[in-house]
Amino acid sequence: MRLQDKVALITGAGGGIGKETALLFAAEGASVVCVDYNAGPNEEVAAAINAAGGKAIAVKADVSKAADCEAMVKAAEDTYGKLNIIFNNAGISHADDDDAITTSEEVWDLTFQINVKGVFLGCKYGIPALRRAGGGSIINTASFVAILGAATPQLAYTASKGAVLSMSRELSAIHAREGIRVNALCPGPLYTELLMKYLNTEEKRQRRLVHIPMGRFGQAKEIAFAALYLASDESSFVTGSEFLVDGGITAAYTTPL
Ligand code: NAD
Repeated sequence: MRLQDKVALITGAGGGIGKETALLFAAEGASVVCVDYNAGPNEEVAAAINAAGGKAIAVKADVSKAADCEAMVKAAEDTYGKLNIIFNNAGISHADDDDAITTSEEVWDLTFQINVKGVFLGCKYGIPALRRAGGGSIINTASFVAILGAATPQLAYTASKGAVLSMSRELSAIHAREGIRVNALCPGPLYTELLMKYLNTEEKRQRRLVHIPMGRFGQAKEIAFAALYLASDESSFVTGSEFLVDGGITAAYTTPL
């Protein structure tokens, strides 16, 4: 088991990448603190882990709220005695996120509150817990859009993921000497609710697919496997990386027809 005796906190565990990662981490021996602001699906994930013989608790928290982030870290330490892994994964992509002219300040602020401040708060309250555990691994979900721009704009989302990537790099440098690794996980376009809500017609999906050398969307589980590597001691010399799992989208200038 690759995460035996580890305690992992995963935000956005109620769906998509977070859910698949919670299930995988638990199957690899971790005790999992499932965090989401959507209580029902999050509790179902924790229940499925416990029913399969794993260990998990569900904590309802909004990652954009400091008190909630403090409480989720406390729940991890109170329940399992320590915290080794933080997966700051919760994020939103707002349906009204567009170009600079069209995107409202409300959409911009909400996106940054969750996607950027949420990661900051997860680190603010999580890093002291990792110190108490003698080190650990932080994985922050950024995106391939932190590296590439698109003509079908989601300006607030793209800017927020750029912030997650640069914040992760700086955190990795600050905490490297105390055994805390920080990596930005950069998924390509995935077949999850977050993206399919936005690419809601075949024409929009094809417009994105044409740029992916593999010619398909990724699956949340394929990101969970990358998170598993970054969480485990197998990646002990990996920190500050922009860990791309993207079907080749950032490597390609043109793709096969
Ligand atoms: P998803 O919508 O399927 O799941 C996100 C989960 O986060 C949901 O369960 C939601 O309830 C939760 N959440 C949202 N805001 C929250 C908050 N404030 N507090 C607590 N929980 C909150 O999305 P996903 O595709 O699994 O995305 C996970 C991460 O991956 C996000 O950061 C997203 O930006 C990133 N990402 C997704 C894709 C993609 O194509 N789907 C690509 C690159 C990066």
